[in-house]
Amino acid sequence: MNLSLITPVYNEQDNLPFLFESIYNVMNSLDQSWEVILVDDGSRDNSLSVLKEYAQKDPLHIRVISFRRNFGQTAAIAAGLDYAQGETIVLLDADMQNDPADIPMMLAKLDEGYDLVSGWRKSRKDNAVTRNFPSMLANRLISRVTGVHLHDYGCTLKAYRRDVLEGFRLYGEMHRFIPVYASSVGAKITEVQVNHHPRKFGKTKYGLERTAKVVLDLFTVKFLVAFSSKPIYLFGGTGGFLMIIGAAIMIYLLVRRLYFLVSVTGSPLFQVSAMLFTLGFQSMLMGLIAELLVRTYHESQRKPTYS
Ligand code: UDP
Ligand code: MG
Repeated sequence: MNLSLITPVYNEQDNLPFLFESIYNVMNSLDQSWEVILVDDGSRDNSLSVLKEYAQKDPLHIRVISFRRNFGQTAAIAAGLDYAQGETIVLLDADMQNDPADIPMMLAKLDEGYDLVSGWRKSRKDNAVTRNFPSMLANRLISRVTGVHLHDYGCTLKAYRRDVLEGFRLYGEMHRFIPVYASSVGAKITEVQVNHHPRKFGKTKYGLERTAKVVLDLFTVKFLVAFSSKPIYLFGGTGGFLMIIGAAIMIYLLVRRLYFLVSVTGSPLFQVSAMLFTLGFQSMLMGLIAELLVRTYHESQRKPTYS
């Protein structure tokens, strides 16, 4: 199998016929073996029966996964990845906001030697206040924090070489952070502008709260990528720093006691120093526990620490 398209579907019944039409148009123009995996994420409309109809007509190309309830877009994508057989994987929304016609151009980019081609909805057709503006801030923040500079993490339409997707699991809203993981295992990443259309049918499943979740996920991702194989550096470093400050304060208090006869315990600095010292020590111990966890994590999955 050359190419797997993966599409999460949640209450998109009216969009599906158009989606299939444009997927067939594009795929028939390519000289590749392909499949499309549609993951029904517990839709409450007729999406699943529409999907099944298409799958029955063309079982060679259309595969359907059905969730018992709504588990979220990231889970749907994770399921699609588990079942995909293609050497190249393209993720795509089902709502026709992404344009399957962009796929050949992205595949051509992969052929140039990139491992990940990220779509960038340069003129995005969503609500400016609740979606586009917060998303622009989030993209800048993510680029800054992770060092992987992309304009549009949120765009589902991205093409991946299979091997950069192996070796990590997706949680929360994390599918958008795949480029960060991929980059941490050395993937070559590029960005291309893609079309974006307003939603014609159905409505968006997300609002402003999504950006908040994304920012929280960013903490996890940054931590996992930067420290997951060496947590003691973070915890021990922080702990050591706190202990040094605590010790410095204590020395200052002692010097003051010896030369100026100011009582050590009378000063609030004494409590501050004791607290910093305790916190620092605790943090170091936490680092050791985290080291144990990391070893269990890597060994239990036989996950190498290199790629
Ligand atoms: N989606 C899903 N499960 C969910 C929410 C969304 O599978 O819980 C799918 C949805 O059907 C669509 C894609 O994820 O194909 C993107 O969702 P949406 O268009 O609502 O997001 P937006 O484009 O507004 O960011
Ligand atoms: Mg959409």
